[in-house]
Amino acid sequence: MVYSVILAGGSSSRMKGPVNKTLIKLCGKSVIRRSVEAFSALSDQMVVVCHQDVRQDLIREVGEASVSCPVGFVNGGNTRQQSVLNALLSLDIGDEDLVLVHDAARCLVSREIIMNVISSVRSCGSGVPGIAVSSTYKVCDAQGLVLQTPDRSSLYEVQTPQGFIAKDLLHASLKASEEEFEGTDDASLMEHYGYPVRIVPGSKSNLKLTTPDDLNAAELILRGGIPSMRVGMGYDVHRLVEGRRLVLCGVEIPWDLGLLGHSDADVALHALMDAMLGASGLGDIGRHFPDTDDRFKGISSLLLLKETNRLINDAGFSVRNADITIVAQKPKLMPFIPQMILTVSEALQIKEDAVNIKATTTEKLGFEGRGEGISAYAVCVVD
Ligand code: MG
Repeated sequence: MVYSVILAGGSSSRMKGPVNKTLIKLCGKSVIRRSVEAFSALSDQMVVVCHQDVRQDLIREVGEASVSCPVGFVNGGNTRQQSVLNALLSLDIGDEDLVLVHDAARCLVSREIIMNVISSVRSCGSGVPGIAVSSTYKVCDAQGLVLQTPDRSSLYEVQTPQGFIAKDLLHASLKASEEEFEGTDDASLMEHYGYPVRIVPGSKSNLKLTTPDDLNAAELILRGGIPSMRVGMGYDVHRLVEGRRLVLCGVEIPWDLGLLGHSDADVALHALMDAMLGASGLGDIGRHFPDTDDRFKGISSLLLLKETNRLINDAGFSVRNADITIVAQKPKLMPFIPQMILTVSEALQIKEDAVNIKATTTEKLGFEGRGEGISAYAVCVVD
């Protein structure tokens, strides 16, 4: 068995935010969700260690993650060491089992690092990702006087996951608790009790989210270095006919004509969805919701909008703001605009002031002016 222990109990004091930092969203997905998903396929069982007060929030986030192994939750202790011990004691550890201990705040950990750690534990009993340091480090006394300059070539900065034979880590943790020995990481406990600890290659991308700057750096890594703001545009037209409802931005408008289409033909939301997909590099609505598919026949475009939002979130984007222009000679849309804004902002889970909706006529020119159809334009910024 491979057990993964995900530590989500650390304080978030340096993040200057009100929430536990593992609940912060990075490119539309929470830190805890990213960490749990990273280990899911490589673990037989996972334990998330957290404070009681964020437990329900974390359970909800993990519930939304795609996880293929059982996940348990245990309460954190006063120290990292105690938290790890609580997690180990909750497991049914056998002689051959492995355990990986990971800081949830290192949510960009790659599959490659996890696999290297696992194979190192299998061959040598332990595996800890480390990066050879590039700076010169000094050992100083309390007054700041340098005592020593360690040889840089022998220094590594270590990361997580730290992997061990589970029963060895349990033994070291119990002994440390008994003897009140405090290590700074799991490896230092193992070293203290004479177990060999082996470094495997880590990565600079496997950064620990500690300050708001780290969040920016992590988002940039997730986007492959692409600048964070992206813009998209959408345009759509539907024909006005008798015997159909007129639905614009999710709001039904009383009128004797309605828009013809496979779905509810909400031309404004179709333009918006195309703008969102365009900004996120995901093609267009025809690709995701083809009008040859019976599932979408007569469907409310609001449902499609929510699904589009989920698609772009999964691709790492969220809507920063959207601006929609509806081009219709009749009816007067002004009275419905506040309700449209509310409807769209609720569907996208963004603030109302991030959604702007305008209506214009074409001075009776063109197909919109003759009342043959309604068109809509939308632009959208995602980050
Ligand atoms: Mg359309």
